[in-house]
Amino acid sequence: MEHLILATYPITNGCNITCPWCAHSKTQPIFNTRYVLGALSRIPHPIHGVALTGGEPFSCPDLLKIKAELEANGHRVFAITNGTLHDHIFEFVTGNQLDVALSIHNPAIFPEWITAKKEKLISLCREKGLKLAAGLFSVDCETDISASVEYIKKNSDAFTTATISTVYRKNIPAMTMRILLESVLDKLPGAVISSLRNRQLIITLL
Ligand code: SF4
Repeated sequence: MEHLILATYPITNGCNITCPWCAHSKTQPIFNTRYVLGALSRIPHPIHGVALTGGEPFSCPDLLKIKAELEANGHRVFAITNGTLHDHIFEFVTGNQLDVALSIHNPAIFPEWITAKKEKLISLCREKGLKLAAGLFSVDCETDISASVEYIKKNSDAFTTATISTVYRKNIPAMTMRILLESVLDKLPGAVISSLRNRQLIITLL
């Protein structure tokens, strides 16, 4: 699967960690599943599934109930996660894939315990013979790009697909698309430009 096309469904405003660029807001609207099912029925193009997001979806007590409701209506359910709350994560296995997109960023800017939890998730997947559905690398400087490309080179066996895109920190000038593109292609010539949305460039690494 080169491109993973998912509809996202934020199920919580809560998160157990704090990232400097985080765009989720304590006041973002959280829809109910009936409303989301109605919206999904009106999507004109085929999608691979619905990705539960947040906040951090694994901090939501209703996670498995929502997953079951969506599945009962014929949808494959993924989660976009920071990978630190492992309790229900392996409920998302489909075949030999863990239907989870792991947000990674530059590991060096996180406290050690967070990086260790993400590493633990990857090593549990290897032990179980599973691939993570996706690695989502978000960057806002050249150092982040180098760290992300190194990470994916080291762990390419662990992911079905991986993308790198820009994030915007408050009061910090955004990285230009040209610099992002040139820098990634310089370090990883096989990367593919997969889409250009609004101000966000997404490049497929795997
Ligand atoms: S893990 Fe995601 S939701 Fe949580 S603070 Fe970081 S970016 Fe925000």
